[in-house]
Amino acid sequence: SFDIHIIGGGLAGSEAAWQLAEAGLRVRLSEMRGGADTTPAHETDRLAEMVCSNSFRSDDAEHNAVGLLHQEMRELGSLIMRAADKHRVPAGSALAVDREAFAAEVTKAVENHPNIAIVRERADTLPDHPTIIATGPLTGSKLAEAIAAETGQGALAFFDAIAPIVHRDSIDMDVAWMAARWDKGGKDYVNCPMDKEQYQAFVQALRDGDKTEFKEWEKDTPYFEGCMPIEVMADRGDDTLRYGPMKPVGLDNPRTGRWPYAVVQLRQDNALGTLWNMVGFQTKLKHGEQVRIFRTIPGLENAEFARLGGIHRNSFINSPRLLDGKLRLKSKQNIRFAGQITGCEGYVESAAVGLMVARFTATELRGETLASPPVETALGALLSHITGGADAETFQPMNVNFGLMPPIPGRSKKADRKKMYTDRARAALAQWLQREPVAEPA
Ligand code: FAD
Repeated sequence: SFDIHIIGGGLAGSEAAWQLAEAGLRVRLSEMRGGADTTPAHETDRLAEMVCSNSFRSDDAEHNAVGLLHQEMRELGSLIMRAADKHRVPAGSALAVDREAFAAEVTKAVENHPNIAIVRERADTLPDHPTIIATGPLTGSKLAEAIAAETGQGALAFFDAIAPIVHRDSIDMDVAWMAARWDKGGKDYVNCPMDKEQYQAFVQALRDGDKTEFKEWEKDTPYFEGCMPIEVMADRGDDTLRYGPMKPVGLDNPRTGRWPYAVVQLRQDNALGTLWNMVGFQTKLKHGEQVRIFRTIPGLENAEFARLGGIHRNSFINSPRLLDGKLRLKSKQNIRFAGQITGCEGYVESAAVGLMVARFTATELRGETLASPPVETALGALLSHITGGADAETFQPMNVNFGLMPPIPGRSKKADRKKMYTDRARAALAQWLQREPVAEPA
């Protein structure tokens, strides 16, 4: 018998199992690898296998949002962080790990915990008992069908189509301007103008840019209507973009009084108004190429990217629409979600959501409620984004970044701002822990 069932023993499921078990709850952890199944990306049957890079990215907790997230997770007794710190390999200011030793460490800790039973089985349906779904970007197809049936039309995506997201304060508004086409419905878009020469050079750069290939098992990735990579559109013809996402009609540039030759539009991406996405710019261009090419767009010369574009196979639900603030499915409250399937992106973020879902579940099963971590913290910012701060219409997977936090009020030097975010976050986390003693591990 068990108190809580976790499906998926990846980064999120392992962290959640550990946290719940440490809180004294009995956990059944179902993992299909090591049984009759696997995913196209995993190679072993270990828990918390890192399927690609061996890096947890920056470990700088003073100037980097993911480094801050590391620190917050350590403070909350994260198993994933403990195992990563123990099996760290030299990587400058990044936290990289020996992936085999890391996964072996997590597996051993979870296996040996008296409150956890690992069952090597595939789940194909949504249970009626308390459950956390942490099946990741490559969720088994039958379970995915069951989730899609419960959540309704289009609420579970099988591919992402990520357009780059820019920090609003890095856009040069002396060049760009706010307007909607034909002045309809407010001045909702940031518009970056191009003349003919700039446009032609830009189209050529998209064609020539270095792209990432789809993996063999991703080759059947469909391009949905409106989600075609920008470089594929550029390949189709010189004017395809000018008649598509870069259409200038109805957009008078206030500095010339005329429509530019082409326009790049950005649309607000979060309720805070700090992040703006480049409309129609989903892409398979390599990250370095995206930065190089997109900074040739007038107004974006100094753009800071909160996230770069991509297209991958990736199962994720429309969390802002489907989940409540405690990661519960609104329509079936015994089901919670954690990890990449919630629309966070990355090993660390996935484990962080696993940690938070476990704390919420543990307190709920004890008949208490845990207030969410404040939005000023990395944990709270990520949670708040995926459960409501993000625009549900355009929701795509997101890494943790400072743009998910409320802006620092007043003027400050750019160089000082990151430290101001992390100082504020540390104070907010300390206050939260003081107010919410149930957040401490049992
Ligand atoms: P996972 O770690 O994938 O864990 C999900 C687990 O659920 C798996 O063990 C799976 O076997 C199991 N499972 C699935 N369906 C079922 C079922 N029906 N029943 C039982 N068990 C099931 N992130 C980075 O930070 N850096 C990278 O370099 C990186 N590269 C990536 C490359 C690829 C090809 C992919 C697909 C993803 C990559 N990611 C990367 C994202 C990365 O997968 C996630 O960040 C992280 O692993 C997600 O954690 P998770 O726990 O949500 O899912």
